Amino acid sequence: MNLLLIEDDDAIAEPLQNGLERQGFVVRRESTGIAGIEVLNGSFHPEIVLLDLGLPDIDGYEVCRRIRVSSSVPIIVVTARGDEIDRVLGLELGADDYLVKPFGFRELVARIHAVTRRTSGRDETVDSPIRIADGFTVDLRSRRAILDGKELALTRKEFDLLALLATEPGAIHTREEILEQVWDAHWYGPTKTLDVHIASLRRKLGDPTLIETVRGVGFRLRSGSSPVTKGTETADTGEGS
Ligand code: CA
Repeated sequence: MNLLLIEDDDAIAEPLQNGLERQGFVVRRESTGIAGIEVLNGSFHPEIVLLDLGLPDIDGYEVCRRIRVSSSVPIIVVTARGDEIDRVLGLELGADDYLVKPFGFRELVARIHAVTRRTSGRDETVDSPIRIADGFTVDLRSRRAILDGKELALTRKEFDLLALLATEPGAIHTREEILEQVWDAHWYGPTKTLDVHIASLRRKLGDPTLIETVRGVGFRLRSGSSPVTKGTETADTGEGS
């Protein structure tokens, strides 16, 4: 597996690179954010990016944001900044997971496998586009959400969240279930992260009522939504019931 390591600190990067190579990873290491971003435009195609936040040129958050403009490669943020705001922000910008320094090597490898497993598992999901509402479809296969003919710019997590809700419109998904399926079974982070993602997804959908909050339980896609009615335009989903 190709791995891009963006880390300026040799004392961290070198043993990490050696350890990862012993685990069979092909590691490309860069010491600055700009150099890391440039790798993604080159011939080395990483299947995962480990990103340090404290870099000498541009901030890791900015690196994350710029990578997400053109790539959905999984990103694990590795940071010394452990407070909740930073964690939520890192995930908001499109990171898939984070580790706070100091971390154990085995934990890192486990996270890498968890993140890439989720990624590849998603790609194998074969389904027709799901019609959520008039002019709004979610295609699990190409990982695209199309609203009024335009693709929504969703982060990986936002798409996963939407995809989970979309597979069973009207069904309630509990917070625990969502955290487990969209994040992972070992999500130790703040559950507030889920609310942050729901809020940003609602903003992007433009219709905040599409995702309903079931107080104290979880969330569901509005029941007027219907799965897979490709090519069939229903007259009106209606606000009633
Ligand atoms: Ca650093």
